[in-house]
Amino acid sequence: MASTAQSHDPLHVFFFPFMSPGHLIPMIDIARLFASHGAKATILATPQNITRFQTILNRDQHANNDNNNIIDLLVLDFPYSEANLPENCENLDTLPSRNLSYNFTKAIMMLQPQAQQLVQQHQPDAIISDLNFPWTAEIARNCGIPRLVFHGTCCFSLCLNSCASQYKPHATVSSDTELFLVPGLPHPVYITMSQMPDRFFGNLGLHEFFEKFIEAERDTYGVVSNTFYEIEPEYVKHYEKLVGKKVWPVGPVSLFNTKALDIAERGNRASIDKDQVLTWLDSKKPNSVLYVCFGSLCNFSKSQLLEIGLGLESSKASFIWVIRDSYGDWFLPEGFEERVRDRALVIKGWAPQVLILNHSAVGGFMTHCGWNSVLESVTAGVPLITWPLFAEQFYNENFVLNRLGVGAEIGVKTGLAWGEEENIGVLVTRDRVEEVVTWLMGESEAVQGMRNRVSELSKLAMAAISKGGSSYVNMGLLIEDLLNLRRDRLSKSE
Ligand code: UDP
Repeated sequence: MASTAQSHDPLHVFFFPFMSPGHLIPMIDIARLFASHGAKATILATPQNITRFQTILNRDQHANNDNNNIIDLLVLDFPYSEANLPENCENLDTLPSRNLSYNFTKAIMMLQPQAQQLVQQHQPDAIISDLNFPWTAEIARNCGIPRLVFHGTCCFSLCLNSCASQYKPHATVSSDTELFLVPGLPHPVYITMSQMPDRFFGNLGLHEFFEKFIEAERDTYGVVSNTFYEIEPEYVKHYEKLVGKKVWPVGPVSLFNTKALDIAERGNRASIDKDQVLTWLDSKKPNSVLYVCFGSLCNFSKSQLLEIGLGLESSKASFIWVIRDSYGDWFLPEGFEERVRDRALVIKGWAPQVLILNHSAVGGFMTHCGWNSVLESVTAGVPLITWPLFAEQFYNENFVLNRLGVGAEIGVKTGLAWGEEENIGVLVTRDRVEEVVTWLMGESEAVQGMRNRVSELSKLAMAAISKGGSSYVNMGLLIEDLLNLRRDRLSKSE
């Protein structure tokens, strides 16, 4: 495709965010970051997903009517019926059953022709694509433009994944739970087979698609990452070495949201008014509230929820507990809400997570270790209670505990397949929940040390994204790099 771009036009980038909150949310922020650096960003998304971020984009547009902050939207029609999915089910968090994951991925694959047509029509200078859209590599190749990939996790976990696949250290262990060393990493890192992400996908029949993801990565110009250099310098450099491509850490991208309304509406419409949460938090002492949320995809069994609730109750700590709205009316223990009325806020549905984490009353986060949650917590200077479930969450836990030293583990050792958590019953008892919560929310020297470390990291995160900081500079370098590629292309086509 011969580009019609002129050398003085702003850089134009197409963004393909994957339809799962943990991927969609940071990529929308990355697109906004690009636009704030003078590039033109076009986000390609399906109608239901667009409703999740449209108001934030509208506010950006109003705040910058000098045309220096250009974000366009292009609609992709989601092929429900062809993929046998329920109408309007356009995001993994609305999938009625995990058994439909195959259909969902099939629908993603079917988007290629529409996307190809839009790229040909609008002729962007580059594509930034989630790894879950492998066909963007083919489109970029056909159109002669670079494709960059976004994985949604940290470089530590990407390195671990890459070295485990390359050296296969698990091939010689005798059980799922035997610890083994992963070779080829900057530090000694031990994991077990049951903590490897393969298990997460094991029951979903998606292997044919993964081959395509790996193939697409070979054909990719570089990696854009929601991390910051100072939090994992060895692993940013090491990942570059492992994949032989440039990595641009541009995070933590949550910090790009500075207005209270943007922070509160990030990712979805919150099911509680932001002022209600803030008023509640204002009434609590600094560092006295534990925030409990397991991300956007985990569906614990009701018996596990019961144990969490009763453990939180006996801990005597104040807490905000987020429970996904898929549980309907039931789940709370008899009389629970009454008994914890003065020290608990239960949010049923979507919580304004970043708003909560950044309140000075919040002093701990019990999390499933999704990378966004980990990074948002560290950025807010909040230590973690780590309770990984699946995907690369055990790797992220390893990073939090052993590299950063800012978390206490709940103690789960075995990874699950996605969906298994609904039926497996109790993984962690109320007594263990009480014990770890009481420890983290206490005042021991060890906890104080953890608070100091996470607060230092928080300062580094703020500095990274501020003008002149590493992530800010990386964003400028990335734009410059892509402009240079365009210049080369234009001069060749003359
Ligand atoms: N999130 C939120 N409110 C919720 C649940 C999740 O704002 O009630 C956001 C959270 O801030 C994070 C993302 O959703 O940005 C979840 O991503 P993560 O990588 O932590 O976990 P995943 O949901 O992908 O497992």
